[in-house]
Amino acid sequence: MENGSRHVLKPMDSEQLREYGHRMVDFIADYYKTIESFPVLSQVQPGYLHNLLPDSAPDHPETVEQVLDDVKTKILPGVTHWQSPNFFAYYPSNSSVAGFLGEMLSAGLGIVGFSWVTSPAATELEMIVLDWLAKLLNLPEHFLCKGNGGGVIQGSASEAILVVMIAARDKVLRSAGKNSLGKLVVYSSDQTHSALQKACQIAGIHPENCRVLKADSSTNYALRPELLQEAVSRDLEAGLIPFFLCGNVGTTSSAAVDPLAALGKIAKSNEIWFHVDAAYAGSACICPEYRQYIDGVETADSFNMNAHKWFLTNFDCSLLWVKDQHALTEALSTNPEFLKNKASQANLVVDYKDWQIPLGRRFRSLKLWMVLRLYGAETLKNYIRNHIKLAKDLEQLVSQDPNFEVITPRIFSLVCFRMVPIDDDENKCNSRNLELLEAVNSSGKLFISHTALSGKIVLRCAIGAPLTEEKHVKETWKVIQEKASYLLRK
Ligand code: PLP
Repeated sequence: MENGSRHVLKPMDSEQLREYGHRMVDFIADYYKTIESFPVLSQVQPGYLHNLLPDSAPDHPETVEQVLDDVKTKILPGVTHWQSPNFFAYYPSNSSVAGFLGEMLSAGLGIVGFSWVTSPAATELEMIVLDWLAKLLNLPEHFLCKGNGGGVIQGSASEAILVVMIAARDKVLRSAGKNSLGKLVVYSSDQTHSALQKACQIAGIHPENCRVLKADSSTNYALRPELLQEAVSRDLEAGLIPFFLCGNVGTTSSAAVDPLAALGKIAKSNEIWFHVDAAYAGSACICPEYRQYIDGVETADSFNMNAHKWFLTNFDCSLLWVKDQHALTEALSTNPEFLKNKASQANLVVDYKDWQIPLGRRFRSLKLWMVLRLYGAETLKNYIRNHIKLAKDLEQLVSQDPNFEVITPRIFSLVCFRMVPIDDDENKCNSRNLELLEAVNSSGKLFISHTALSGKIVLRCAIGAPLTEEKHVKETWKVIQEKASYLLRK
């Protein structure tokens, strides 16, 4: 190569990192400062970026300015601004200065912590912060890492469900025999996240053995224990093997809470693995006044909450606790020669590679550690309480407007509502609510999402973005009312 020495790449030059890093932090800080000036929901059309970027990668270096210019003019228009104070769709995905710093440090250290020996601090910090959070949630002792249980950070709630289902499956197959896979039965309410269905697909559970039990407005969409008991009894009579139950604390559609203690009792007496999905609402349970919603968690075999949803920890950081870590490691361990080391061989350490699907893993506990240390538990509780108060205020505004109705009583920070039907015409009502959704979201001023409950199209306003204040919620309600009045006049 001509002039080879001048072109030698120095991909991690400290001074360049300092200079570019400052520029990038400035760029991101400016983004946050001006975040309200963007349409919350990106308004681009599919394929928009193909027309704006070249067909192939550059042969020679470009400058950071060139790249940042493209971010401003070509990437940001295609970004939906999840951190906008006017983002109320799905469930929130919090970022924060503390989470961001942890993310930066994790990227900066660049370790891959699959076994203890590959970075002892990564494994040990993860064990410590998961114990910290278990204590904040007042989880039972058996989820702490000092005994047979322990916590682990997964990438997502979906991975958490999958790994515990595989652990439960293998545990039962060890006694029932490998050929019994076709007899294994999974239970949940029809409000459970589709992550459960995906886990069943991957774990080889036969689709006809997935009992999706109906939950309706009579229980505010919580699973009725009698329905579970009946289904389990029927399956036992038919010679099938009930093996996995997923309970919910804060369903995706309406934040419904299943009666954990009653479900756990049925699970226990039938040797069913009981997993609790508290992906969104788990965060609220650090507040003593909301802890009641996970009462009964002591009957669970595993419990999951996403710190990346409503706990100021930048995506991704999904926290999973299990009662019996050996169930996980027996299902997921591998021990190839190239990974053997003294500490692992002597069984002195936790190797998180055996608690998850991939081998490689990031130093994600740094993010949660930063959040817990830089904010402290009391501030975090007040952060959650503020969002719940804002949701309560919104719920009140909705219930005062005769054109609208609240569909399920609000528990946390999700408000489920709709425009009321006219002349009892439910079909027209559904179409009108979808029209309203389209109208408010295409205004760019806010972003809400929808679901269906008992055949009704329902609008969901989930409050929980870190920058959301009272004025944003009030303005959002104003926009929704204005668009609704327009639709009613049409
Ligand atoms: N469970 C619940 C209750 C959820 O609301 C969600 C996502 O919003 C999930 C599971 C799936 O989460 P993840 O994206 O972490 O897999």
